[in-house]
Amino acid sequence: GATIGILGGGQLGRMLAVAASRLGLKTHIFEPAADCPAADVAHAITCAPYSDAAALADFAAAVDVITYEFENIPTAALDILESHRPIRPNREALAISQDRLAEKAFLGSLRLTCAPHAPVNALADLEAAIARIGCPAILKTTRMGYDGKGQARLSSPTDAPAAWAAMQGAASVLEGFIDFSHEVSVIAARGLDGAVACYDPGENVHRAGILHSTTVPARLTPGQRSDAILAAARILTALDYVGVMGVELFVTPQGLIVNEIAPRVHNSGHWTQNGCAVDQFEQHIRAIAGWPLGDGGRHADVVMENLIGDDVDKVPELAQDRATAIHLYGKREARPGRKMGHVNRISRSKG
Ligand code: ATP
Ligand code: MG
Ligand code: MG
Repeated sequence: GATIGILGGGQLGRMLAVAASRLGLKTHIFEPAADCPAADVAHAITCAPYSDAAALADFAAAVDVITYEFENIPTAALDILESHRPIRPNREALAISQDRLAEKAFLGSLRLTCAPHAPVNALADLEAAIARIGCPAILKTTRMGYDGKGQARLSSPTDAPAAWAAMQGAASVLEGFIDFSHEVSVIAARGLDGAVACYDPGENVHRAGILHSTTVPARLTPGQRSDAILAAARILTALDYVGVMGVELFVTPQGLIVNEIAPRVHNSGHWTQNGCAVDQFEQHIRAIAGWPLGDGGRHADVVMENLIGDDVDKVPELAQDRATAIHLYGKREARPGRKMGHVNRISRSKG
């Protein structure tokens, strides 16, 4: 059987490796940190930094196709890997999602709406951007942010110096604060043959910048639901994308606004593990291995809730509920803000 190479050995890499294993495929993880969540379940692991060209080349030679669980992979590492084996999803999807400004330019070229925004590389830029966009606003580093890290909120122009200082000199983007009623995401997949399959949009609640829960079905009108799915399909097709993508959207009375895209399996798609015949992890492996996509239809209503930090202490209690599926990542230490696992509560079968 084929071997899937996965860059990153966190919980997403772990769940991808489990899905690959169920399909009779082997997985080889590349991960700088020793003792990662995926190490328990992968067939092989290379523990080396992304600067180790020889380790990257050996890893690539040992696998048939390369995928990833996070988007912030150094370009030099990708160059080495791509000279040996295909990377799916492709480099363009990675490059765009690594840079919030490139991402917004790309989305704009597809006539999708993003938050009003402006590049910020100095305090003077920020002041000019605030004059144009107004407050409240959010300043974000253009690269490397996740779980709300690398962001500062501005409620008034007087917050500008502190917000710019928080970026530590990094290239940034100011976004106008969207007064959304709620947030949703579409988990979408595209196969090597160009077929697209979208899961039902989920409604997301964030706490302190970190995803807290995803509920399906989301509160959306039929028109909003099809807008969301069509936006996702347009993005995947424009990128000639292969694999699963998460598309985060804000719901407003004026329509949907695209927040960001993630070129990988997504935390807000974890509900598919217990709500669908083929979950996002199997779907991603199918796509990158060149298999046909599976059926993403939803057979239950689900509330996914992340177990962050000490939340994991509630597992014995959560396990009392027979309709709650428990997913733990095998992380030893429960630090604040660390994703330790999640639960999927199956609330009712769809009629
Ligand atoms: P992720 O872990 O999803 O990659 P991230 O660090 O890239 O997160 P964002 O998705 O940009 O961060 O922002 C995190 C959350 O902050 C959003 O889901 C939303 O709740 C809020 N947020 C971000 N940008 C805006 C905006 N322009 N207007 C209103 N709320 C926003
Ligand atoms: Mg992000
Ligand atoms: Mg986000």
